[in-house]
Amino acid sequence: MWDADGKAYLDYVGSWGPLILGHADPDTVRAVQEAAAKGLSFGAPTEGEVELAELLVQRIPSMDMVRLVSSGTEATMSAIRLARGFTGRDAIVKFEGCYHGHGDSLLVKAGSGLLTFGNPSSAGVPADLAQHTLVLDYNDAQGLADAFATHGQSIACVIVEPVAGNMNLIAPKPEFLAAMRELCTQHGAVLIFDEVMTGFRVGPGSAQGLYGITPDLSTFGKVVGGGMPLGAFGGRRDIMEKIAPLGPVYQAGTLSGNPLSVAAGLVTLKKIAAPGFYEALKARTAALTSGLTAAAKRHGVQFCGQSIGGMFGLYFAATPPRSLAEVMASDKDAFNRFFHAMLDAGFYLAPSAFEAGFVSAAHTDADIAATVAAAEAIFARD
Ligand SMILES: *Cc1c(COP(=O)(O)O)cnc(C)c1O
Repeated sequence: MWDADGKAYLDYVGSWGPLILGHADPDTVRAVQEAAAKGLSFGAPTEGEVELAELLVQRIPSMDMVRLVSSGTEATMSAIRLARGFTGRDAIVKFEGCYHGHGDSLLVKAGSGLLTFGNPSSAGVPADLAQHTLVLDYNDAQGLADAFATHGQSIACVIVEPVAGNMNLIAPKPEFLAAMRELCTQHGAVLIFDEVMTGFRVGPGSAQGLYGITPDLSTFGKVVGGGMPLGAFGGRRDIMEKIAPLGPVYQAGTLSGNPLSVAAGLVTLKKIAAPGFYEALKARTAALTSGLTAAAKRHGVQFCGQSIGGMFGLYFAATPPRSLAEVMASDKDAFNRFFHAMLDAGFYLAPSAFEAGFVSAAHTDADIAATVAAAEAIFARD
């Protein structure tokens, strides 16, 4: 990546996740150009849209039906409306530090007491709406059980990032996801895996494939659009059939399933299905975080990293955090200094201790080695 002054950077942000093939992948660019030449938008389904939908339901066994939208935000907003329409309930559960786009019901922070409903975290969100969102701690299975014990009758859905990537990278405890599945089933709530970031990023079956948990609905974005605006939500047939025109839950979009976006998504999904793609991506991402961790250790810097598939977290802390509170306790000033030193050296990491990073198929072993060497020089100096 080059900035406006012509300075080169090795990019570990990848447009915040979509660019699993790297920037301007020639096959993707060509497919978009060819699609553009045929027409930018028709407001009617195209062959490519159907092909992408078929590919998605084939790759994600929990998805009987899928609908394409234009962003991750639209996918989560629509999935939540659908869950509310399906259950006839209003309350939703989310976890602190998880980001699900900027739908009004989701820009909510925890209320003052345990098990109390939330307050808006953005101006412009009505408190009347925020009070239907319950915000709990990530990886706290007991907290979720308590919430269901108290509010089970009114909870429409639980929405979660099955690997959290919007508060740095936080790995789920397997028992947390398992308890979530069980509680939702028990109480008739819809389990929504927000895989906008993890979808086709942590592995070919996304996080649900990696952890062997079957959600009721899933949302996708980022990688499935190959760098173009595209999102998707889908899941159980009996739930999806509640969407208009089959059912009473309204959802639509003029540019949904846009042919250019669909073309980029199709090429990307096909290329990442190549044998060995994820093994190589996972190995290269792990080499980055283990290389950085070892370099920090050699210089006595309290730092560690971890990766899941093609996403990674870097922490100025002794061990990887398991909740937002633990991320908050890491040394954020040290992160900020490290970020700026790396940027000066030509390595573009996410500019915040609360973001995950991404390795793409375009990163080479030499790129990883150069990144570790640059970081080591910074660890040695500071
Ligand atoms: C990025 C992201 C979204 C929002 O997607 P947009 O395309 O930016 O609207 C939703 N959920 C998760 C987990 C994300 O990482």
